[in-house]
Amino acid sequence: MIVECAADVDPRTIQRLVEHLQAQGKLVHWVHGPQPVLICPDADDLDPRELQAWPGVRRVVPVRHAFQLAARDYRPEGTQIRIGEVLVGGEEPVLIAGPCAIESRSQLLETAHAVREAGAHMLRAGAFKPRTSPYSFQGLGFEGLELLAEARAETGLPVVTEVMSPEEVPLVAEVADVLQVGARNMQNFSLLKAVGRQPKPVLLKRGMSATIEEWLLAAEYVMAYGNFNVILCERGIRTFERATRNTLDINAVPVVKRLSHLPVLVDPSHGTGEAAYVIPIARAAIAAGADGLLTEVHVRPEEAWSDGRQSLTPEAFARMVREVRAVAQALRAVQCV
Ligand code: PEP
Ligand code: MN
Repeated sequence: MIVECAADVDPRTIQRLVEHLQAQGKLVHWVHGPQPVLICPDADDLDPRELQAWPGVRRVVPVRHAFQLAARDYRPEGTQIRIGEVLVGGEEPVLIAGPCAIESRSQLLETAHAVREAGAHMLRAGAFKPRTSPYSFQGLGFEGLELLAEARAETGLPVVTEVMSPEEVPLVAEVADVLQVGARNMQNFSLLKAVGRQPKPVLLKRGMSATIEEWLLAAEYVMAYGNFNVILCERGIRTFERATRNTLDINAVPVVKRLSHLPVLVDPSHGTGEAAYVIPIARAAIAAGADGLLTEVHVRPEEAWSDGRQSLTPEAFARMVREVRAVAQALRAVQCV
C-alpha cells in the first residue's frame, strides 16, 4: 500500500503515522521522493479510508504487486520524463543513438553530428564498459566523459551513459543527462540505491535473465531511494536460440505498459546483435507501443572497438528513423479513427 503525503507536511506528522503503522506490526519504508511517501508492503488488511483521514495524507493507493511505486496503479495516467527539450513517454517516440563505446574524440563527434542530422533526440555512448572479458576494451573512463561533455556542447543533444559502480555515480552524474544501468548491473542493489539517491533520470536495462517482475523490482529500488525518473529498456533476454545474440522480448512492451506507469524503450541492437535485424525489430518495438529506441550507431562499424556487428551506419540509422516515424504516424492515424 502506498500512502502519499503532501509535499509540505511536517515530518513529525509523518513520523506519528509511521509509528501508528509500526504499532500494528507493519513494515514501513519512508521514501523521500518528489513528495513524501510511505510504503507499507503487507497492508492488505488495513483500511485505506482510515489512513486517508490522517492529517497530511494526500492519497492512499492499494497495490497488489511486490513493486509498489513502479506499479501502474500509482500513476494510471503514465509517467513522462523531461530531459531538456526531450519528453520521454510523450506522443513522439524518443530516439537515442550513438556508439557502444567512446573510442576517440573524432569518432564520438562525427557520430554525434551524424545521429543528430538523422533525427536522434539524445546521444548514447559508453565511457565505462561492462565487458565479458577483462582483456576487452574497458572504455576510456573519465577521459571519455570529458569527450561526452564536448559532444553535448557541440550538438546540443542530451547524453546517456552507463555507470557501473556506486562510487562513480557523482562523477558520471556531473556529465550525464541520463544515467544508464546496464543489463549486468540490473540487480546491483548498491548501484540502484546510489542512482536512486541522486536526481538525474535513470535508464534501467533489463537483466539478460531477469523476469519482468525482477526488472520492475529493480526500478522500485531506484524509486524507493527517492528518484522517480526511471526509464525502462528491454534489450533482449537469454534463450535457447543462438541465431541472434539475445531474444528481444517484444511481449515485455505491452506487459510492462500494463503493469507499470514507467516509460519503456527498446534496444534493438543488443536485442538482436546483428545490424541486419535492427531496423525490423525497431519497427516492431514502436508498433508494440514502446516509447522509443536505444540504437547503436558507428561511423565505421567494421572498425568499432565493441559491438560493431550490431551497429548501424549513420545512413542505415537515417532509414530507421524514417521507418519508425512512419510506423508511429500510422498508429496515431488508426488510433484516431
Ligand atoms: C550497452 O548499451 O552498450 C550495453 C552494454 O548494454 P547491455 O547492458 O544491455 O548489455
Ligand atoms: Mn554495446
